Amino acid sequence: MKYQLSKYIYTFVSSKGEFLIYCSRTNSFLKLTKELFEFISEIKKDSSLINEFDESLISLFVKNKILVVANEDDDYLLERQFEEDTITYSQKTLGLTLVPTLSCNFDCPYCFEEGKRGENMSDETIEHLLTFIRKHEIAKELSITWYGGEPLLAFNIIKKIVDRIENEVNIPIKYHTIVTNGFYFTDKILDFFKKHPLDTIQITLDGKKERHDTIRRQKVTGEGSYDILMNNMITF
Ligand code: SF4
Repeated sequence: MKYQLSKYIYTFVSSKGEFLIYCSRTNSFLKLTKELFEFISEIKKDSSLINEFDESLISLFVKNKILVVANEDDDYLLERQFEEDTITYSQKTLGLTLVPTLSCNFDCPYCFEEGKRGENMSDETIEHLLTFIRKHEIAKELSITWYGGEPLLAFNIIKKIVDRIENEVNIPIKYHTIVTNGFYFTDKILDFFKKHPLDTIQITLDGKKERHDTIRRQKVTGEGSYDILMNNMITF
């Protein structure tokens, strides 16, 4: 079998000096030796070097989708697009993108939310939301995406909505995703999402630590966020 490195991998050195490889397709992190880390950099320039891997390493990398066969990444993307389109145009699934707050604890210079009032979703809007969902009785399942601002700043609202949907609506949450800056994965929030698992979590990293920290700064302190996000991602 002829393998190549997946487009979905990212290699980096952690703040603790660990050599890591991350695959966003499988959401897996692997710790590498320095030699293997450097060898993977060489493979990025010359994929024929993959032949020098032993079978057990190939098997591990294939299992985690770090190594893929030709077209596998493209086929994966097509499958995902097909799934998204199926959800978008199906009446079976009611897709909701919910913004529990427009507030954010970051101060990214490119933020499209700049100038918007950092309000939380009101109880009145939550009532309207529940009414809206009940009106779509034809739907068999819900697809919910949390979006912001930073949605986890309004965790209590997320919890309230999920609890009310589970207790008051006869449509289960089938797909559950969040777009977050990744800062607030506290134990309380992690516990909640263990009970209400997320299918995908989208966290933005703006390149390596030096670049990311100059862009995705915390609003109050002006400090970067890279180390906190990396730690949270590993914990999660
Ligand atoms: S994390 Fe997102 S919402 Fe917050 S400031 Fe940055 S771009 Fe805006």
